[in-house]
Amino acid sequence: MPRSRACARCRHTASPGGAPTIVVAVRNGCDVYACAEHQKELAGPPGDTLVALAQYQDMARRRAGR
Ligand SMILES: [Zn+2]
Repeated sequence: MPRSRACARCRHTASPGGAPTIVVAVRNGCDVYACAEHQKELAGPPGDTLVALAQYQDMARRRAGR
């Protein structure tokens, strides 16, 4: 895994249910990942286009297998 997708709160890289962590916020130019359990807690303000872009790029990287 080239970049860390660990949850910013619990450092797990996957949710208890097995779902991968997702980008929920961008802080200081860094993607903030969260598991399903901590997504609400770590999410930034709704409608943040930086976050939407980060999520899109993250999904693109996953599809590319990187
Ligand atoms: Zn977590």
